[in-house]
Amino acid sequence: MKTAHDKAIGLAMHKRLTELYPICRSITGDGVRKTLSNIKSSVPLEIHEVPSGTKVFDWIVPNEWNIRDAWIKNAASEKVVDFKRHSLHIVNYSTPIHKTMSLSELKTRLHSLPDQPDSIPYRTSYYEEDWGFCLSHNTLLSLSDGDYEVCIDSSLGPGNLTYGEFFLPGAVSDEVLFSAHVCHPSLANDNLSGIVVAAALAEQLAQMDQLHYSYRFLFVPATIGTIAWLSRNTAGAKRIRHGLVLSGLGDAGNMTYKRSRQESATIDRVLANVLLSNGSAHTLERFSPTGYDERQYCSNGFNLPVGRLSRTPYGTYRQYHTSEDNPDFIQPESLAESLRILRGVIRVLESNHVYVNTQPMCEPQLGRRGLYGLLHDKVEAIAMLWILNLADGHSTLLDISERSSIPFDCIQRVASVLELKGLLRKAN
Ligand code: ZN
Repeated sequence: MKTAHDKAIGLAMHKRLTELYPICRSITGDGVRKTLSNIKSSVPLEIHEVPSGTKVFDWIVPNEWNIRDAWIKNAASEKVVDFKRHSLHIVNYSTPIHKTMSLSELKTRLHSLPDQPDSIPYRTSYYEEDWGFCLSHNTLLSLSDGDYEVCIDSSLGPGNLTYGEFFLPGAVSDEVLFSAHVCHPSLANDNLSGIVVAAALAEQLAQMDQLHYSYRFLFVPATIGTIAWLSRNTAGAKRIRHGLVLSGLGDAGNMTYKRSRQESATIDRVLANVLLSNGSAHTLERFSPTGYDERQYCSNGFNLPVGRLSRTPYGTYRQYHTSEDNPDFIQPESLAESLRILRGVIRVLESNHVYVNTQPMCEPQLGRRGLYGLLHDKVEAIAMLWILNLADGHSTLLDISERSSIPFDCIQRVASVLELKGLLRKAN
């Protein structure tokens, strides 16, 4: 249900997203550190540094990249492209350079989008030393012949890869994982929306007492950061019972859930259930070995029950990987709804108990126990019959919700009433 509280949280997440937007993040470097330190102001993150050159499975942590400034000046010494105006102007991981060149030579280093002539594209060159600039196609067309002075004040050398981790211990060591990538520069839906929603969720969970599961939040550079985490936590990763990659949670589109490689893991069923109860149109996608960091969590050797929650899938909206993916593209209500759905997921995971009916021989006499007065409506009355019927010491509340097509929250509420009245007890 939407509340004024949800609205305020949506606006707060959008505010944080707008603060983080200008930072030039990458897979390594100070942009990630600045982003993590912003999150640390509300979530007690542990910051990890993995030295360049560290072998992580089949990969090697690359040199650290940092950038201070970059620009292209025309013959009149006017900046025609200025990194300080937009972090997307630089091909991410560009090596340093300072030289003067002709327009035709420069053009081999420029990237634009003829079909979206006002937008700056996002390009990277992580694993191959190179340099280049990105600019709107209209700016490119406006460049006249002549010499251009090009400067990239960056550094690429031994350093670290940085990631943030927040662990919240629960009653059991089994874990629920939330993972968001933090390596995209000024891109709002693709990375910042996942970051701010994950941070808000972590904050809310930290205030809850008596959590059953332990919760782990990872804020990692995509691919290499996740591979580094999995390589350093190969044994610990086995404790992950349920997990979600969070990205693209702020656009106005419908929710999309991509199943884990296991396809029918509990997390897959929980998402299907919660999204159905949420009532808005949504899509359930089958697993594929493409996408974000679910590629690593669901790789053959790990095969963890980790799905991905997004709104409009990456790569299918015009703003994707361009300067149009900015804070104006993000709806506070969408961030709030995404967070609400995640809270619903946690509610199901935390209370997905198995019960035993204490009066299993025929139906118990319900009127005598004053049960009908405790139920709100007809759906709850039907839920009660389903629960009493299926509380066999094996079926979870999620099983009962699925089989009865009654929302989990309703099943859970009625089960608590029945437990209070002594008609149910929790199975061991
Ligand atoms: Zn991306």
